[in-house]
Amino acid sequence: MAILSVENVSKIYQSGQRKLTVLDQVNLSVEAGESIAIVGPSGSGKTTLLGLCAGLDSATSGSVQLNGHRLEGLSEDQRAAVRSQEIGFIFQNFQLLPTLTALENVMVPLELKRRKDAKEKALELLQKVGLGDRATHYPTQLSGGEQQRVSIARAFANEPKILFADEPTGNLDTDTGEMIEQLIFELNTASGTTLILVTHDTELAAKTNKIIHIRGGKIEEEQHA
Ligand code: ADP
Repeated sequence: MAILSVENVSKIYQSGQRKLTVLDQVNLSVEAGESIAIVGPSGSGKTTLLGLCAGLDSATSGSVQLNGHRLEGLSEDQRAAVRSQEIGFIFQNFQLLPTLTALENVMVPLELKRRKDAKEKALELLQKVGLGDRATHYPTQLSGGEQQRVSIARAFANEPKILFADEPTGNLDTDTGEMIEQLIFELNTASGTTLILVTHDTELAAKTNKIIHIRGGKIEEEQHA
């Protein structure tokens, strides 16, 4: 059964009189446990599509179903509740909260869920990404790769059904990027979490089950591994 289903989705940005159709009647279906990569030229709508699938933004028309939740027509608060229940998100620029330690960053989603064991669970997750000894460090005291590992631990604190990643290795050097890739795929395999990532990196894309090429607002082709 599809865990994510995108049907006839269009996204049109309007500024003044000008309309920009970024996605034009796009269809996509992702099975639970699959890993897929969305690739395409800069400005082709990859981040927009990822954001619509993750409920970060709403489509102009069409339907997105995320693990049984229909996202169209939901308020921002309702979409935030679905996100908190179903997904994790990793960004190119990590997006850690600068005033919180590594441990506190990972605790945020656990505290939102009112988990009494938030601290213990967050520490366990930091240990899983190899950062048990960096718990009290602030983001500025961590390298880029370490910050991305904290953000992976935070994403997995949600026990997400789907992990979304937007250029997760884009700001990292090759070796660090490979370590982050390995970690994401390990967690994907170990927990059965569906993985949807946007990347420029053809080697990274080739490691997923399916590659979606997007161009001119359309999904051009799907390559199966
Ligand atoms: P990609 O991730 O493939 O580089 P994006 O999805 O970020 O592409 O952007 C696709 C197009 O939509 C770009 O031309 C971008 O300038 C435009 N765009 C993205 N977000 C907005 C917005 N909030 N308002 C207006 N235009 C936007």
